[in-house]
Amino acid sequence: CNRRGVGWRSCRVQDNPALLYALEQGKIVPVYILDTETPAEFKPGSASNWWLHHSLEALNKRLNNHLIFAQGKPGKLLLEIAKQHQASSIVWNRVYEPYERERDTTIKADLKKQGFETKSFNSSQLWEPTAIKNKSDEVYKVFTPFYRNGCLQAGAPRYPEPVPSRITYADTIHSREQLADFELLPTIAWYESFTDTWHPGEDEALARLDRLATEIAQDYKDRRNFPAIEGTSRLSPHLHFGEVSPNQVWHRLLDEFGSRRNHGVDTFLSELGWREFSTQLLYHWPNFWTENFKPKFNDFKWNTSKANLKAWQQGKTGIPIVDAGMRQLWQTGWLHNRVRMIVGSFLVKNLLIDWRQGERWFNDCLVDADLANNSAGWQWVAGSGADAAPFFRIFNPVTQSEKFDSDGTYIRTFCPELKALDAKRIHSPWTASEQTLADAGVTLGETYPRPLVDLKQSREQALARFKALSD
Ligand code: FAD
Repeated sequence: CNRRGVGWRSCRVQDNPALLYALEQGKIVPVYILDTETPAEFKPGSASNWWLHHSLEALNKRLNNHLIFAQGKPGKLLLEIAKQHQASSIVWNRVYEPYERERDTTIKADLKKQGFETKSFNSSQLWEPTAIKNKSDEVYKVFTPFYRNGCLQAGAPRYPEPVPSRITYADTIHSREQLADFELLPTIAWYESFTDTWHPGEDEALARLDRLATEIAQDYKDRRNFPAIEGTSRLSPHLHFGEVSPNQVWHRLLDEFGSRRNHGVDTFLSELGWREFSTQLLYHWPNFWTENFKPKFNDFKWNTSKANLKAWQQGKTGIPIVDAGMRQLWQTGWLHNRVRMIVGSFLVKNLLIDWRQGERWFNDCLVDADLANNSAGWQWVAGSGADAAPFFRIFNPVTQSEKFDSDGTYIRTFCPELKALDAKRIHSPWTASEQTLADAGVTLGETYPRPLVDLKQSREQALARFKALSD
């Protein structure tokens, strides 16, 4: 299945419940259908398509080129392929997003009517999105009780399934199309630099998991906020595409650390909790990706400056940490969490541009674009979401930059035109003297933009407008 932000959620052989079940039944016919009926608003972004292409390539290789590729209407194609291969059971791993849920429910009913056994499995969440409720049987809207009282009391997540000892395929498998026929790779080759950072597929996902367990998790709590270092797992696209399951990640850490489990590991596990929280929000509020969770935000008059939006998208706002972030996103298809919050806050609270514009841009550019996590992240930043940052929490990007990129290494990587500025001025070049700028080869307005807005004034304006909303 195919979806916005891309939804093939089990591009792996290990810990794949649907695959294991199918193998228990006998020979298998693995199928990937690109759903061409997906409504435009749910279509995957360009970076996601790039990832999907390579992930499917890796999966097909792992399945000894037995993966059937087809594109069109999934229900119709599944039926045809099942009949052609004389299949008796049709099984898949569930996707919990609104369009897929509705579609897959219809497909399931149709297939059953045609006499097929159908079965679907949870392979992407630690707990079913319907499983965690409070004592009054209501969905949690605040993260901490959701995670502490809900998830952690709900019993351990499923232990990963063993690697299948052998995969047996149906005798003759006919692929309808080639992967290249899907034309997933964007026509403009801006993604070429992605390969310096990313290698989609299960092998790399497992290698990253190894690195997390042996090098990163221990100090995660202390190092996760610094964008210039590899203090986080960078598992997000692998998790999104199901190249590794959250269960594999969760239990690998518990097994690795045992009684040595510390704050670093616990903080990391709670981030997986945020992933669960976002999924259940979207599950229970299917318009969460486009509608303010707090309806009072519907009255907010967003600025509609196309020029400001473009400057933000292109990393030309004149605020170095914001520009570095937006350029990291463009060049690598990924952005550090701390910087996602900084660039998001700048768009929504300094430029007063609708969070949905940011969500859309991220959806197109992120290799880990995920409908639930992305909309939850943006609604959190905007203050319109469940358990969101309050309206008066407006990040000062310069202070954030000084704190989390104190020597300017991150800025220098993505804004090389500022690299000769010293660690004090690199966060706010407009405060540097003419001489300092000249010595560093920086001419504001020429080699690097002047700030798009005055940070203090725009902050005050935002505070006043958001406050009016809350009265
Ligand atoms: P780690 O810190 O190593 O965390 C491990 C895993 O936990 C991540 O891979 C991710 O699956 C999950 N996770 C971590 N933080 C969060 C969070 N805040 N919410 C939900 N899950 C989380 N994450 C996405 O996967 N896709 C998105 O489209 C996305 N958009 C975002 C937009 C905004 C505005 C913000 C503020 C956050 C967004 N996030 C998104 C959450 C977070 O920034 C990324 O998951 C994280 O930066 C990925 O890097 P990592 O794998 O190294 O994370």
